[in-house]
Amino acid sequence: MRGAIFVYEPLIRLSAFAGVFIIMAVWEFIGPRRAQAIGRGRRWPNNIGVVVVNTLLVRIVFPTSAVGLALLAQARGFGLFNAIALPAALGIVASVVILDLAIYLQHVLFHAVPALWRLHRMHHADLEFDVTTGLRFHPIEILLSMLIKFAVVAALGAPALAVLTFEVLLNATSMFNHGNVRVPSSIDRVLRWIVVTPDMHRVHHSILVRETNSNFGFNLPWWDRLFGTYRAQPVAGHEAMTIGIEQFRDPRELRLDRMLVQPWRGNAGQYPLGYRNAEQ
Ligand SMILES: [Zn+2]
Repeated sequence: MRGAIFVYEPLIRLSAFAGVFIIMAVWEFIGPRRAQAIGRGRRWPNNIGVVVVNTLLVRIVFPTSAVGLALLAQARGFGLFNAIALPAALGIVASVVILDLAIYLQHVLFHAVPALWRLHRMHHADLEFDVTTGLRFHPIEILLSMLIKFAVVAALGAPALAVLTFEVLLNATSMFNHGNVRVPSSIDRVLRWIVVTPDMHRVHHSILVRETNSNFGFNLPWWDRLFGTYRAQPVAGHEAMTIGIEQFRDPRELRLDRMLVQPWRGNAGQYPLGYRNAEQ
């Protein structure tokens, strides 16, 4: 069982990614939430190019995956859940929930510290909001996220199955909640108590600072409600709201080579959480 998880991990991840990506792409085509001013042909090759760069980089830089680390922790007996006797199912559910909380806190941190915001803002600089936005993260942010995830997995002694479940789930929900898809408001109202919906996460991609700095959750919607960062709807409405940040509004900034150097261009701007000016 343990060996099987490790052997099949790449196949499980790739098929879940491809399956959810295709479903979301078709859904966006059939029932889009917003009309897109910038065509897919201009954004998608670049956004998918980032995924290829990140996947290769993680493979090259890290000797093992988070699942591999979880297996190692289990074999050596380190980490909380390897030290205490818990029913297996409880250990898995608790690990997935705690990993999700860690990702929420990490996301807030990347909005709070100006140097980290410079990395994370590349994700926010997309001028449209669709399934490929959910895949577009700066390679250095991906490497830092992996290190944080390794630390949490090792400290928790999270079961390998929980780590694999969490990673597949996070990848899938990220594509779902960035989807340019129409979910009837009656369904959205109920669904957003269970999972972060596209209408909920779109608020986070608004150009307005107070909206950007809300709805940090990717997976479970409870953290935003619990920590007071929840905002139900964008003030301008989903169709009229402006997506992106104040910087990098030129569509040429959507090119892969431009995206990669965005962290080092211009100042940190007014988005970091500690920023205050006279109007705020
Ligand atoms: Zn963000």
